[in-house]
Amino acid sequence: MNYDFLSFYTVFIFGLIIGSFLNVVISRLPNNMNIDSNKSESKTNGDSVFAGTIWWGRSKCPHCNAVISIKHNIPVLSYILLKGKCSDCQNKISIQYLIVELLTAVCFCFLFYISTNIAQLTFIVIFSAFLISLTMIDINKMILPDQLTLPLLWIGLLANTDSLFINLEHAVMGAVVGYSVLWSVFWLFKLLTGRNGMGYGDFKLLAALGAWLGWQSIPSILLVASITGIIYGVFMRVKTNLIKNEFAFGPFLAIAGWVYMITKINDDFSFPHFSLIF
Ligand SMILES: [Zn+2]
Repeated sequence: MNYDFLSFYTVFIFGLIIGSFLNVVISRLPNNMNIDSNKSESKTNGDSVFAGTIWWGRSKCPHCNAVISIKHNIPVLSYILLKGKCSDCQNKISIQYLIVELLTAVCFCFLFYISTNIAQLTFIVIFSAFLISLTMIDINKMILPDQLTLPLLWIGLLANTDSLFINLEHAVMGAVVGYSVLWSVFWLFKLLTGRNGMGYGDFKLLAALGAWLGWQSIPSILLVASITGIIYGVFMRVKTNLIKNEFAFGPFLAIAGWVYMITKINDDFSFPHFSLIF
């Protein structure tokens, strides 16, 4: 890879543009699907911020429904220039848009820095974009849409047909083990307590992570996700004083899976090769 300022600048701008697109997916996808499979209590109230499908139709202000002009739709810059407010009604625009754009850009620069070849970089950029979208949708709506978890699984298997991250046999086993482990935990918990501990989206996400990282990754991912999830749960309980509060488990799985991927790449290539031309 070619690590000069211009390369990083290009990757950063590319990340901002993709982040802006992810914002569209995060906002529109949950409103454009029939939510029935993941969580029965999912909120599907009609706060449809956007008109049209995911791919068509311009972005609108969630407050006044005004169509956002092209010049007010530039990543980060528009948000700063408009001081985080709608140009029509002056209501606040969620800072989440800014966070997703910057997070994606910084993440892509980091991936660019640690990747050793273009195939690997392409796939972990896709991997990260899916995980960012899933994390934000799960935080917002407590769902992990099939439209994202299932393609993530197929793309993981595709990447590993060439043993990019793990050999295909281990990848297939990863998908099977990932799904069945959480499925078993779900039903055990349901039989013992009569409650739903998590959603089917969580099984599919762990299956997808298994397809990318192999069955060997499942115990570590589950351990890290569970520990961080429990810490968060206890923290939220103490902070909000609620006896029964649900939180999304998807983000913990996604972050644990992403970190596992990074350490995997670093273990395989402990000394990054700077010689390859981007
Ligand atoms: Zn407005």
